[in-house]
Amino acid sequence: MSKPQKTKSPLEKAEEKFLHSSREYLTDKDFTKVKQALEFTKSAHENIRRKSGDPFVIHPILCAFRISELRLDTNTVVAALLHDTLEDTDVSSREIRSRFGSDVLSMVEAVTKLSNIRIKKSWFPLRKDDREEISEMERQAETLRKMLIAMSKDVRVIFIKLSDKIHNLETLKYLPKDKQERIATEAIDIFAPIAGRLGMGEWKGLLEDLSFPFVSPDEFSKVKKMAIPQIKERERYLQKIAAKTKRMLEIAGFKSEIGFRAKKWYSLYKKLEKYDWEIVKIYDLIAIRIIVDNIEQCYGVLGTIHGEWRPLIGRIKDYVALPKPNGYRSIHTTVFCDDGKIVEFQIRTKDMNYQAEFGVASHWIYEENKSSRKPNKDELKWIDDFYQIQKDLKTPEDLIASFKMDLFEDRIFVFTPAGDVKDLPKGATPVDFAYSIHSDLGNKCSGSKVNGKIASLDSKLQNGDIVEILKRENAKPRPDWLKFVKTEQARAQIKKVVKNRL
Ligand code: MN
Repeated sequence: MSKPQKTKSPLEKAEEKFLHSSREYLTDKDFTKVKQALEFTKSAHENIRRKSGDPFVIHPILCAFRISELRLDTNTVVAALLHDTLEDTDVSSREIRSRFGSDVLSMVEAVTKLSNIRIKKSWFPLRKDDREEISEMERQAETLRKMLIAMSKDVRVIFIKLSDKIHNLETLKYLPKDKQERIATEAIDIFAPIAGRLGMGEWKGLLEDLSFPFVSPDEFSKVKKMAIPQIKERERYLQKIAAKTKRMLEIAGFKSEIGFRAKKWYSLYKKLEKYDWEIVKIYDLIAIRIIVDNIEQCYGVLGTIHGEWRPLIGRIKDYVALPKPNGYRSIHTTVFCDDGKIVEFQIRTKDMNYQAEFGVASHWIYEENKSSRKPNKDELKWIDDFYQIQKDLKTPEDLIASFKMDLFEDRIFVFTPAGDVKDLPKGATPVDFAYSIHSDLGNKCSGSKVNGKIASLDSKLQNGDIVEILKRENAKPRPDWLKFVKTEQARAQIKKVVKNRL
């Protein structure tokens, strides 16, 4: 007689999943450290339960699981396991430091700070009353400010916080309704854009799609109802196109992986709003994704596809030559495909695909004997820039507005005559460009040349423009510039100088 199979508890399942995923990439020594941290956090959180009724410790374990899926360094995994111990248990900082080291401790402390939302009056000096109550705007502004401070010190803290958020959203249904809405709204307004700006497309999509049904349940069901039949039909069609493409590429001598995946719900919803809910206009509802070994092959594949199907004018996007500011690289093209249907292809290498899903986090990918690595400075420069700008913003409204402009808006790349790249929001002008280089250049700018031709200071720059600023020592910023500048950085500087003159 065989023994009856014992069903695993949710905690056992979580542990198993986590250990399996860490075992896959860590050395024995690092894996031992992770197991010690797992036992430590289990005993620290013993007898505490979550609203779902499950043992609390499932939460940090699944948070660490997501970190380990990204194959981040050991200390980040350990810090994720311990991220709620300082706040919720008797564990002391000293104990964490002596057992797991100061790098882990500093991350745990930083995550703990992020969850304490208390408004300091000095941050919003314009506020006159002494209300105890915090408005949603103020709460979001403070969350954002804290995220920026933490991010500028150690971006790994943000990976833990985002992973923490994702698991909280996964278990949101157990919370009271008003809390559900607040947490989901904050995830969509603040956390998802940060993930997006860090190039973490996969997590951004998760944060949005987990929140969407709680924030706008009606829109969520409307989108699904409209899209599901379309997606099924497209999938049948694309299966044939993908197989044909694979054969074409083989004949042309390219080894490739071809797949497709439907657009995520929230990003589809955003696009439908833009296109008056005409789903036939969403060409990338499902896009075909082609993965090849190197950059040359990306362009070769593009040629093969264009040789078979005619591309739509203006829909070829080369993010390999001109990556998006968040690091995204890929070639997109939309073609008139078989039977007159319109199909979008996305062509990239494996590295580019990894970068598209995990962004900045891909720099912390674990390597033996390297506990952590720093990403390319330029990639995180926007954090410092934004951190500097926000210091001058006095009200929560200004902070949120500037954040939206900086992170949500489409960005363009423009070049200095020496070939240095600046990234600016769409619609930025030569004045914005001048201030993005140096406040002094902004203050003394008297004219500009775009692609070698004289251009007015309020002209809208385009992606790829080469911009030269003409400077005059006695020039001064003019108040009417405030009517057209796009960046908060330029606005703040102009206001400062104009005010001092009055
Ligand atoms: Mn947590």
